[in-house]
Amino acid sequence: MKVGTAEADPGETATGYRTVTDLPVGGSERLPVTVLNGSDTGPTVWVTGTIHGDEPTGTEVIHDVTDRVDVDELAGTVVCLPVMNPAGFRTASRTSYYHGDDPNRYFGRAAADSAARPRVQQVICERVYDDISATADALMPLHTSWVATHPYTIQPRVPYGGNRSVSDAAVLRDRLVELAEAFGLPVVNQFPPSEIEAGNLQHSLTGAAVADGIPAFTPELGGRLVVERDVAAAAVDGVWNVLHALEMVDRPADRHPEFALDDDGRLRRFDGPHADVAGIVRYRVAEGEFVEAGDVVADVVDPHGAVKTDVAVERDGYVLSRREGAAVYENDVLLDMAVPDDTPLLMESE
Ligand SMILES: [Zn+2]
Repeated sequence: MKVGTAEADPGETATGYRTVTDLPVGGSERLPVTVLNGSDTGPTVWVTGTIHGDEPTGTEVIHDVTDRVDVDELAGTVVCLPVMNPAGFRTASRTSYYHGDDPNRYFGRAAADSAARPRVQQVICERVYDDISATADALMPLHTSWVATHPYTIQPRVPYGGNRSVSDAAVLRDRLVELAEAFGLPVVNQFPPSEIEAGNLQHSLTGAAVADGIPAFTPELGGRLVVERDVAAAAVDGVWNVLHALEMVDRPADRHPEFALDDDGRLRRFDGPHADVAGIVRYRVAEGEFVEAGDVVADVVDPHGAVKTDVAVERDGYVLSRREGAAVYENDVLLDMAVPDDTPLLMESE
């Protein structure tokens, strides 16, 4: 197994770099790679981190995973890309600084998608994705969310139509539901189909992989910028338990019920409520709490602290994140929530 300069025979571990583009004043942009090639045959799983450069938790989790895996006890291969966005990582920012693009919206775009030449970030994504899609039997892109976030896993919706029958899509759905559950954090389904398209989420790494038939899901490992050690430790166990579900390792790791939400019904992502007026937000709730439709979750106050309005939620659900900052403009989103999902996980593609 060879990715970039990291080449490992069965029973070997190798580290190296995958060069993705040249830099203007010399040198190259290179992604660090670790290949853990098990002494037994089995699936190939890719684990990627920090495609958003302000999300260092994925990097640390991958370092701990590579420490824990013993290739003599591994069936199959784990390929790790701990820093997917080196430019963003250097500056602790979400995007890469080449042109300020979000790298996680550039996967699986057809060449015919645009008449214009792709910008360098898209070229980088295409190069890396060629490597991933050539061998991946499963994929875990590790992320974090807003600073104040309860950890969870985004479970993507699975498209059918075009080259994929409904029954093939159902097989893929069942596989990824099994793996997302094995990871062990609360599972929250992706936005409904119309919002996926509006947000270009079909071009996230997870969205592109699932469209190509690779089971993938997106753990959101707490807040960005600082590694939350307890969440990172749960994620290392989570990656391990996915390897166990794929029969690549013998014994399972610990589960982490401390992050469970009370309701185990189907949940999906929901952004809301919104601020009706500009002002300074004061939250009455925190991440992980359950709220009911009509509950007041925040006040918007004026610069002297007098309440201008209160803000109620329109849906029952869990608070996943409070948005960062206190200054709000009219129509700003205040919370990321998990609300009951009545939309099927299978969705018709165009
Ligand atoms: Zn992210």
